[in-house]
Amino acid sequence: MSDLNFSSLHLSKQVLANLEELEYNQMTPVQAMSLPHVLQNKDVIAQAKTGSGKTAAFGIGLLNKIVLTDYTVQALVLCPTRELADQVTKELRRLARFTQNIKILTLCGGVAIGPQIKSLSHPAHIVVGTPGRILKHLDKGYLHIDELQTLVLDEADRMLDMGFVEEIQKVMAFVPSKRQTLFFSATYTDEIRKLSESLQNNAVNIMTVHSEQPNKIAEHFYDVDGDKMLKTVVNVIAKFKPDNVLVFTNTKIDAKQVVKYLNDNGIESSTLHGDLEQYQRNDVLVKFSNHTIPVLVATDVAARGLYIKELSMVINYGLPFERNVYTHRIGRTGRAGKTGIAVTLYTGKQAHKAKDMINGSRIFEKGSVLKNEIGFILKANNGTLVIEAGKRNKLRPGDILGALTGDVGLNGKQIGKIDIYDKQSYVAIERGLINKAIKGLKSQGIKGKRFSVWIMK
Ligand code: ADP
Ligand code: MG
Repeated sequence: MSDLNFSSLHLSKQVLANLEELEYNQMTPVQAMSLPHVLQNKDVIAQAKTGSGKTAAFGIGLLNKIVLTDYTVQALVLCPTRELADQVTKELRRLARFTQNIKILTLCGGVAIGPQIKSLSHPAHIVVGTPGRILKHLDKGYLHIDELQTLVLDEADRMLDMGFVEEIQKVMAFVPSKRQTLFFSATYTDEIRKLSESLQNNAVNIMTVHSEQPNKIAEHFYDVDGDKMLKTVVNVIAKFKPDNVLVFTNTKIDAKQVVKYLNDNGIESSTLHGDLEQYQRNDVLVKFSNHTIPVLVATDVAARGLYIKELSMVINYGLPFERNVYTHRIGRTGRAGKTGIAVTLYTGKQAHKAKDMINGSRIFEKGSVLKNEIGFILKANNGTLVIEAGKRNKLRPGDILGALTGDVGLNGKQIGKIDIYDKQSYVAIERGLINKAIKGLKSQGIKGKRFSVWIMK
């Protein structure tokens, strides 16, 4: 890994200018190690942790090969979850910003198939999706990938964890044998190696774990009596006073209990579980990521694909069943150079196993050392405003910010994150000002147009 400059790669001026605009000043380690091979059309298997820039490591490569005048699917990216597929699509669109008329389509399960079939009537250049739904489209003949040049398995380890191996193998029956196959994974297990051997050709093997800055995480373990565990969650949050917390539980029942207990005890929280409708799940994710709800409680399954840029704390409510589950959970905090806090609550019986989990610095204490916090309150300052308009209405964050700080008369500091989706937008705003914002937007509109506006419950 000698040169970290993107300009050391054979990329067009346009691509380099765009990377500069994105402020991608240097390649990340996984990009520096894999892009030269990826661009030479070699098969690559790369292991790197979450947030290390894997998407661009394959994205720049596959985009480089797309022939826009060929209206065929030339690249297929398989991802474990809808959220990850959406993130990959978003990143590919950013990387392809300057490319007119490139069509990138996301095909995931859990949403109606009809509109997907309709959009497939004009073939996309790139398809990103989850294995089950992709297979369905292939089986039914809606999706054709005979001209595929690049196949990417992103987060391959998660796909295996989720039992997608069969679907992946079935998808392979549709994929031409002459192709480039790229594998990306956060861990490198025997299963991954086997799958790679069966799908790839002389793959270049890249491991970046050692060359990267590990996340900075302070790991605390508390030995707690089973019946004091709920109370201890409150004590721990009150002690560390984090901005936001992701609480992992081992079961759905625990998740429901924890969320109820926290809300009853002054700590505003929500839960993600499999029984939620997609829109409800989306609402919870929006609120947690824009900091209008400080605590999210979830099982591992429910939290799959969840990516929160700045997470101050992870709590394990009960010892995770396995060490890599532990590592995976706590790896969501301590990013971007900030120190994260990981707290694990376990019962005395699990002490032995708990001591085996720890990665770095060791802090073991009895839960009883924690102060019993009464009347501690954790509430977000902001609430979320929903605007019934989004990308389809050509809304951009600047338009909303402009309307709120202009006609409506708010101050930029009172406005938090703005997320724009296809048909809706979400704005984090200081709670006390939400009604003013709603009233103002209703009467003044945005860029001269009026849209429905309400508070997300
Ligand atoms: P991973 O797939 O490894 O978890 P992503 O591809 O999602 O990581 O990238 C994580 C973040 O880093 C994204 O916000 C992405 O835009 C950003 N990023 C990627 N490459 C670079 C780079 N070379 N310089 C700066 N930021 C980058
Ligand atoms: Mg990724």
